[in-house]
Amino acid sequence: MTGWDARIARAAQLELEYAFAAEILRFYREILLFQRDLQARGGEIDAEGLADLVRRAGPAGLAGVDVGEARRWPEAYAKGESLSPAEAFYARVFLEVGPVPGRLRTGNNACPACGHKPQVGVLRPEGHGARRSLVCHLCAAEWEFPRACCVACGETVFDKLAVYTAEQFAHVRVEACDTCKRYIKTVDLTKNGLAVPVVDELATTPLDLWARERGYLCVQPNLLAL
Ligand SMILES: [Zn+2]
Ligand SMILES: [Zn+2]
Repeated sequence: MTGWDARIARAAQLELEYAFAAEILRFYREILLFQRDLQARGGEIDAEGLADLVRRAGPAGLAGVDVGEARRWPEAYAKGESLSPAEAFYARVFLEVGPVPGRLRTGNNACPACGHKPQVGVLRPEGHGARRSLVCHLCAAEWEFPRACCVACGETVFDKLAVYTAEQFAHVRVEACDTCKRYIKTVDLTKNGLAVPVVDELATTPLDLWARERGYLCVQPNLLAL
């Protein structure tokens, strides 16, 4: 994946703006710096390096992991094998740097490049309106997806699809489905062209709390939704 610098700068900016997410964004910025450095060094898995970072700057829930088997985790995660939350975290940090082992693509809600689930939706300006796309949670590829369609189950009945926004985050919307009770956040770049979808998704934690309280589950929890 490219675009580390844009993500790092956006995380630093939101760390100043969103006090409630400052801690998580500080840690996320450390991870991004680690990933950028790792890619510059050729992408070789550095489990000890990540373990050091986690001990220094991460939440307690990630500490104390035996990283002896860490080289196996990215492939296990990509294959859908069950991993502990901490193991999945390690796997995802390395998979985001790449390469992502492919999996069978099952529909237009799966990434066309690697077959995995989307992390976040994006609305980009097009003509007088906006076009919706999805961003892969592992390889960051982006592909077009219909606007009025549930990302999880394909529901298209208008009454079953709800969009929620909060005044505090005018450019991020929760798109929820009452058929499968899943939601995904979509970052509206027509409202805020400075947003970096993956970072803004991760930073707007109150929207996730709000959705969970109403019984919705995230289509794909982000890297730090531990
Ligand atoms: Zn992908
Ligand atoms: Zn649905």
